[in-house]
Amino acid sequence: MSVFILALDQGTTSSRALLFDQHGTVVAEDQYEFPQYFPEPGWVEHDPIEIWESQLRAARGVLEKTGTSASDVAALGITNQRETAVVWERETGEPIYPAIVWQSRQTTSICDGLRERGLEDDIRARTGLVIDSYFSATKIRFILDAVPGAQARAEAGELCFGTVDSWLIYKLSRGRVHATEYSNAARTMLFNIHSLEWDPELLAMLQIPAAMLPEVRDSSGDFGRVDADWLGAEIPIAGVAGDQQASLFGQGCFQSGMVKNTYGTGCFLLMNTGDTPFMSDSGLLTTLAWGIDGRVEYALEGSVFSAGATVQWLRDGLGLIESAAESEGLARSVSDAGGVYLVPAFAGLGAPYWDERARGTLVGLTRGTTRAHLVRAGLESIAFGSRDVVDCMAQDSGLAMDQLRVDGGACRNDFLMQFQADLLGAVVERPSMLEVTALGAALLAGLGVGFWSDREALAQTRGEVQYFEPRLDEADRDILYRDWQRAVDRSRDWAV
Ligand code: ADP
Repeated sequence: MSVFILALDQGTTSSRALLFDQHGTVVAEDQYEFPQYFPEPGWVEHDPIEIWESQLRAARGVLEKTGTSASDVAALGITNQRETAVVWERETGEPIYPAIVWQSRQTTSICDGLRERGLEDDIRARTGLVIDSYFSATKIRFILDAVPGAQARAEAGELCFGTVDSWLIYKLSRGRVHATEYSNAARTMLFNIHSLEWDPELLAMLQIPAAMLPEVRDSSGDFGRVDADWLGAEIPIAGVAGDQQASLFGQGCFQSGMVKNTYGTGCFLLMNTGDTPFMSDSGLLTTLAWGIDGRVEYALEGSVFSAGATVQWLRDGLGLIESAAESEGLARSVSDAGGVYLVPAFAGLGAPYWDERARGTLVGLTRGTTRAHLVRAGLESIAFGSRDVVDCMAQDSGLAMDQLRVDGGACRNDFLMQFQADLLGAVVERPSMLEVTALGAALLAGLGVGFWSDREALAQTRGEVQYFEPRLDEADRDILYRDWQRAVDRSRDWAV
């Protein structure tokens, strides 16, 4: 009897593998970091072979640690850093160029070219995305230009493109399967999220040959099998999703209107919007959440640029705290932020302001302001930024949100979670099992092979949850938020 699901979590800085049991409990994990390459300012690359080898090592490691044989694993799921682009030879599996990482800015000029051609609205309508070098499309163009002969070879079907999920599926299956799924495809800027196919006009715009693209499948289902050579026995690859969508799934946000927020370096918020691809008026992205049983669901996505990074700045930049965790006690040592607002627009502001020239701003200082007030204002800024995005989601979709499901490193901060609930007037739900991204991949895989029968069975894996109920009355909440917006105004249009 197969008793486990193996989840691979291929992140930007490390490759992890986690073994889950039927209750959704993490039995064991293993993790390896791999090198980051910065060949020029603003460029970020990975070696695809190092991604693969670190991932395989972690998968082997977690089985070895627990004495688990591959035949005890019912299915394998993959979640991955999104948008990162890999191009390799179909015949040999050899990459022809380093993986260009999502953060990399090396295709800015290709993006400028698309904007100059007036394609912004068209691309947005087809893909739900704004033109940005984050997304895979211009990275593929870059690789095909950088490697002599690559364009012709791609046209002849000799080369494969894949996001990291696709690359891992190819390697795991020993080249038998070249496939991806909806959530990853939706981040390439080549996939039409309405017709659900690689968009011929987008491919033509960037002269990307269709022959190099992976087949797009349901996120839960059949992606072939892990070759027996790798882990000792074949394992079905049965669930795949990009990291943010996997976390939405792992949080059990199965109904439209449900929202999750991951509090990491930045915050990533996704709202499940069911069958409807709402187009945003406030600059949120429209994306595919997943495809299951031949039916896709959509999501709205927004981010807060600086979240945990603000806490790091309080610690490393200002030296106000020694550890991120210390921020909580300090924030609680005062009854409020003393009228201080910190707008952490260190690199501009995102939704709904979209102001590249905004810069970090501290307002409301008096002689009574202490380090505790500053630290508290820093934590509060994370909640204010998240509320900005939640409000956009509610406005764009017309869907009411009554609870926010949270994960990520900074969600461990109880003060922050309570303040978030107060500021939203909504319950914040924090599961005790915070590995929701890996869990999402495991759930998709388990669903794909019948390890779990349906979404009700999946919901049983959620385990213990801590609830933060809103305690602030509406009038006080409105004053706090209005003053935040006044502070944001002060930060805008600053850099020249
Ligand atoms: P990422 O995946 O983006 O690296 P993590 O989910 O690991 O981020 O979360 C780490 C971030 O959370 C760091 O920026 C850190 O400053 C912040 N953080 C960690 N613990 C706390 C805490 N107790 N209170 C506030 N922020 C925290």
